[in-house]
Amino acid sequence: MLPETNLPPPPCPRCGRDMRAAEVKTAIWRGERLFVVEDVPAFVCDLCVEQFYDPGVTEMLRKWTQDGFPMADVQREILVPVFSLAGYEPMTRPITTEEQEIY
Ligand SMILES: [Zn+2]
Repeated sequence: MLPETNLPPPPCPRCGRDMRAAEVKTAIWRGERLFVVEDVPAFVCDLCVEQFYDPGVTEMLRKWTQDGFPMADVQREILVPVFSLAGYEPMTRPITTEEQEIY
């Protein structure tokens, strides 16, 4: 469900632009297990590519991360490709700010 639309989304805490309401996915590691939560109501800043949750969503995700996910409510399972950077040789020069922005 999208966040309540009667109120306009708050401005982006980072850049001050208007955000839009959206449903997003998030992935959370708990120990060695990865959990995916979808249909997460959020506010998204298209400029910063940041997403923000309301306090209730944040609290629910925090609780699941800390206490464990409610496995009786699993919607489906997906196969996740896993890659490795083992053997990667670190750069020998400092990384510039511009390069850090790329992700
Ligand atoms: Zn922003």
